Amino acid sequence: MTGKMRVVIDPGHGGTDPGAIGAAGTLEKDINLALANILRNIMGRHDLEVYMTREGDRTMSINERFIFIAKCKPDLMISVHHNAGGVTSTGSEALYRASGTPMPGETTLAKALAEAMAATLGIPNRGLKPHVHGVLKSDCDSVTLEAGFLTNPAEEQLLLRPEVQRGLAEEITYTVLHHYRLPAIMPAPAPAPSPVQHWAQGSLDKAIAAGIIATPEAWADLDTTLSKGLFLAFMDKAGVISGKE
Ligand SMILES: [Zn+2]
Repeated sequence: MTGKMRVVIDPGHGGTDPGAIGAAGTLEKDINLALANILRNIMGRHDLEVYMTREGDRTMSINERFIFIAKCKPDLMISVHHNAGGVTSTGSEALYRASGTPMPGETTLAKALAEAMAATLGIPNRGLKPHVHGVLKSDCDSVTLEAGFLTNPAEEQLLLRPEVQRGLAEEITYTVLHHYRLPAIMPAPAPAPSPVQHWAQGSLDKAIAAGIIATPEAWADLDTTLSKGLFLAFMDKAGVISGKE
């Protein structure tokens, strides 16, 4: 592999084709795009060049997708889908090309992705399924992911949770990086949180700067009470008490 590894993410369905319809009405085309967008962002943080077959809710034929994928000359194509079955159907699976010759390593990656999705979601691993699907004819490693079942009410709600989608996208990314022996680029550590400031610290700083308070050390504890006399003296010093004009 020369240069950055190229990945095409294909959010399944779109536009006039809703794909599967969930127990609570989730449209597969929407959840596919949501997961694909998160996946694109996470993959983009690593040393991967990422393309999307569709960025919005648009109708796109399998042939259009196939042509777009070919133009990108990717090393890997991941088609993102969610499954439909009965109300009790459950689990993650990955589809690999059933026609033509699979690319070397393609089924190994698909198997690892099915395992990673099931483990992240805490649902059964349905493993690999052969599939004749247009986008799986691409001249690169190609896999279609079926994260879980939208027709299963509990699984639909699980799959809709943003933090679950994020965890899923992260696991898919790390599985891909591991498969191609690419380094994971760790995010920079978050800056140490600054100590919590007292709510009145800003006012104290201003009062010191204005010369109203000459002894800042006496004001170190901002939660001690102030006598009425001192309060009036400071009001006077601050020019608040100036009498009627
Ligand atoms: Zn689908």
